[in-house]
Amino acid sequence: MSHINLSAIHQRLDELSKLKKLKDDDSIKQALQKRGFSRRDFMKWAGAMTAFMALPASMTPVVARAAELSDRLPVIWLHLAECTGCSESLLRTDTPTIDSLIFDYISLEYHETLMAAAGWQAEHNLEHAIEKYKGQYILLVEGGVPTGDTEGYLTIGPHGTTGKQSAVKASENAAAIFAIGTCSSYGGIQAAKPNPSNSVGLSKVTDKKVINVPGCPPSEKNIVGNLLHYILFGTLPALDVFGRPKWAYGLRIHDLCERRGRFDAGEFVQSFGDEGARLGYCLYKVGCKGPYTFNNCSRERFNSHTSWPVQAGHGCIGCSEPDFWDTMGPFEEPVGDRLYDTVLGLGADNISDKIGIGVLALAGIGMAAHALIGVAVSKKDEEA
Ligand code: SF4
Ligand code: SF4
Repeated sequence: MSHINLSAIHQRLDELSKLKKLKDDDSIKQALQKRGFSRRDFMKWAGAMTAFMALPASMTPVVARAAELSDRLPVIWLHLAECTGCSESLLRTDTPTIDSLIFDYISLEYHETLMAAAGWQAEHNLEHAIEKYKGQYILLVEGGVPTGDTEGYLTIGPHGTTGKQSAVKASENAAAIFAIGTCSSYGGIQAAKPNPSNSVGLSKVTDKKVINVPGCPPSEKNIVGNLLHYILFGTLPALDVFGRPKWAYGLRIHDLCERRGRFDAGEFVQSFGDEGARLGYCLYKVGCKGPYTFNNCSRERFNSHTSWPVQAGHGCIGCSEPDFWDTMGPFEEPVGDRLYDTVLGLGADNISDKIGIGVLALAGIGMAAHALIGVAVSKKDEEA
């Protein structure tokens, strides 16, 4: 990360602290106590978030202060064409984490899954929040946007407002916009071929800058981390060519995978349940798309850092890449032999910005060759 202007951050947080608390009856101290967390747990979490955002450890108290002030910014969360899995992944945990606590603590002015209101009252609440907090609220949108002559496939509320109308209107006066999940970022499963609802990602229907936080679902850390990042800096983070923050999506799953040594040694699981699977060999040949996928799952994991798909024995399916439903399937077969269909789904960050898609295609050939050589070597070993 380039030079960090600490005094500008402090100034911004001082300004935020002068704003009225949007929830009078809560404070981070009370919120922690209510859920059985100590201040020490909170500071430990702030330290982990600091490292997660690739900030120096000395910024931990500043990150903790930003989290404490997260109740000063109004948040509007819209649901479009999706399964609500992104909200669910953050909220439906049997052991609430501090990430889910922070999500409860922010001032969620409108969230269709969580609010009690329905019908006219819900629509009124949304209009009221947009008007009252014009230019100040953070907009989070979950779900793809049906467009064209099928725009009406998604209508919401008593006025039959389409999802697209709702998203465009809410985007106009937002201070920052986050597309939460792969559907909102790139259209998701709705947009999979033949895309009968003509669904697209949010950035295709608004002129405003959208920060994509893809994943199916994205980890709770990527959602909360992006909110914190905005509270700290008040500006857009550096984004890759697919609109993803580089601090979260700058590396491939493959780069930090615990099975990477197996890949390099040519030790591959040949089929699920074989001896290689038991020994923790690389899952590339049973479909892992980690080499083509930019996300931080191999570093951050899920469920309080407990595990992630590759640790559990299944390959990454590339869920944070545009059009992964079309380009990464079948999910349990390698893609190295189908380059034409897969190059557009290979992901891009500063590596591909520099080396280009052609070289990534070559990398695909290289991986396929590597896997084949791996088999030849293990066969030779077996014969010896
Ligand atoms: S191919 Fe998948 S399992 Fe193998 S090292 Fe890469 S990310 Fe890990
Ligand atoms: S491991 Fe791959 S498929 Fe699983 S959540 Fe991460 S990016 Fe998505």
